[in-house]
Amino acid sequence: MSKIQYIIISLLLFLSCDEPITNNNFIDEELRPYIESFIEEANRRGVQLNIDDFGAEIVNEISIGGDNTYCGYGWFFYRGTLKKRIEVKNSDNCWQSRTDIERENLVFHELGHALLGRPHLDETFPNESPKSIMCSSDGPNGCNNFNTYHDNELFRSYYLDELFDRGTKAPDFINKDNLVRTVFQEGGGEYYSNWELFIIEDEMNDSEFAFAKDNSDHSVTLTTNGSPSDDMRAIIVKRFELENFNQCDNLKSFMDITAEGITDGFFRVSLSLRERLSDGSLSRIYLNSRRESENGTYNNFVHELYCLSEKTEIVSISFALHSKTPASINIENLNIDLFE
Ligand SMILES: [Zn+2]
Repeated sequence: MSKIQYIIISLLLFLSCDEPITNNNFIDEELRPYIESFIEEANRRGVQLNIDDFGAEIVNEISIGGDNTYCGYGWFFYRGTLKKRIEVKNSDNCWQSRTDIERENLVFHELGHALLGRPHLDETFPNESPKSIMCSSDGPNGCNNFNTYHDNELFRSYYLDELFDRGTKAPDFINKDNLVRTVFQEGGGEYYSNWELFIIEDEMNDSEFAFAKDNSDHSVTLTTNGSPSDDMRAIIVKRFELENFNQCDNLKSFMDITAEGITDGFFRVSLSLRERLSDGSLSRIYLNSRRESENGTYNNFVHELYCLSEKTEIVSISFALHSKTPASINIENLNIDLFE
């Protein structure tokens, strides 16, 4: 929820005392470990929390409704009382299929509202990743509340420090400029193979998404004839293995991008980290994106991902496109470097 919404909703709830309060001191056993860990992290940082008037529940519908808008919600004043509460939606996407660290990200965000009274904070670092776990998922450039941090302890502890102390200074890992080596390069041996096209929310490909590689100028191009629905988009993905890096090294991708014809849409460049669970199965650890909605040529477009996870075995770079009208993005001179 947005900061304004949060304040308005908190005020409205504070003023309307007619609804019965149910189960407020109930703490779901599935949420309890995250709540205990939150209290422990707070204590470690000198913050004492009182959870006498606090409830936490996994629910089929968030109390305030909103269908699929929210996966979780945190109240500092629940329904006009001084009771604090969080709810998490019991769906596959919101909870069941989430990893432990993704669940922690979501629950800690909601506990930031409920136990710390924190509103949203949407400031970002130079790579456009959030400065705070209290970032808002609302809006076109909103953050992903499951992915503010991954399991790397240096990365995680910055966000927890900031959660309990807004004065926390920017972490060192946002300024890594010592080039270790290039890890993926246009024209390299692997470059042309195994790009995959995924079409999202458009089963019949009514948007006519298409992907082409041009071996003469080493470019890749994603095109569409235009999508009527906001959810329809296509993503091209290239995965490659990553070895021999130090924990919390950064990945920085450089490329030239030409975007044409985009109307009411966007293109997005993402780097994601995965670990291999078995031969055919990868688990996503972390995703970070940079999104643009303006057409034009972006020379030396940079997208950086901070602080690699120890678990990282596979990295993917992906390009997404959505437009209401015929549009394309062309990517040239792609290079991904490792920095320490
Ligand atoms: Zn929130």
